[in-house]
Amino acid sequence: MRTTSFFVSLATAAFFCSASTVAQAGAGHAADHSHVPGPSVKVGASEVNGNVSVVMGLDGFAGGNVGVLTGPDGLLIVDNFMPGFQHKLEHALNTLKTCSDCGDLKYLINTHWHFDHSGNNDHFGDNAVLITHETVRPLYQKQHDYPEMKMVVPKKTRAGMPDITIAQKATIYFNGEEIELMHYPKSHTSGDVAVYFKGSNVVHLGDLYFNGTFPYVDLDNGGNVLGMTATIEAALEHYPADAKVIPGHGPVSGMVELKAYLDMLKETTEIVRDAKNAGMSLEEVQKKGLDERWSSWSWVFISTDAWIAQVYNSL
Ligand SMILES: [Zn+2]
Ligand SMILES: [Zn+2]
Repeated sequence: MRTTSFFVSLATAAFFCSASTVAQAGAGHAADHSHVPGPSVKVGASEVNGNVSVVMGLDGFAGGNVGVLTGPDGLLIVDNFMPGFQHKLEHALNTLKTCSDCGDLKYLINTHWHFDHSGNNDHFGDNAVLITHETVRPLYQKQHDYPEMKMVVPKKTRAGMPDITIAQKATIYFNGEEIELMHYPKSHTSGDVAVYFKGSNVVHLGDLYFNGTFPYVDLDNGGNVLGMTATIEAALEHYPADAKVIPGHGPVSGMVELKAYLDMLKETTEIVRDAKNAGMSLEEVQKKGLDERWSSWSWVFISTDAWIAQVYNSL
């Protein structure tokens, strides 16, 4: 139910809503891809640091932010948008300035299993090595139904299935970069992987991090707000203070914004915890609400009420 309602809002935003409510403006230049098949949302690429770029929806929801490593050995991408955006993503990759001498797509990493991040595995996985956490592969072996939004996500084809799964940690050496894959348990899901490009000093945190908004936490699939909080605390320790951070959703940031996100997680959790310990029901806590200072974190996908429910049910 919790999962379903989040994906309903995903679909609503993606296909029906005023696009401006979910815009991630200022994050890139839109290439002219009016001729490219796919949904009407514009997709744009921009450089982040070193050899790492990001591709994101510019005027609406295309899915989670896509991290891109370019170089003479070929391309590596982290996540690949909602189903249907494969041609727009390809087009955006071709517009990257740093990519004039890039080779083929060699590696594909999924930060986690959600279809707004892995929606085009089948398309891109054919000639690339696909890597996920080990808990993700079984989820791709079955169909997922979202009846409220009349959507069915079929099981992945052979091309869309992971070739390599990792348990805790792995390192890829590619394009002269040392790329660290780190699993963070019980956070957004049970199988979240963060990808850190050491040489370029950029980390892609997937949906462990929603920049400036309340995050979605998939409690039905091993996610937990307390686990996510511990993960962000660990990430702030682990990655350099001057690292650039690609969130799953929202604009690219530095570690300062990640710290603000941690503060929000901790302080809103305290409010809900105190109320729950005082014997209040979920409905009573929602009626009471959070401090006014957190109101700007509410957004089309996760309202304050939805966030309170996720925290309440994580405790
Ligand atoms: Zn997402
Ligand atoms: Zn997700």
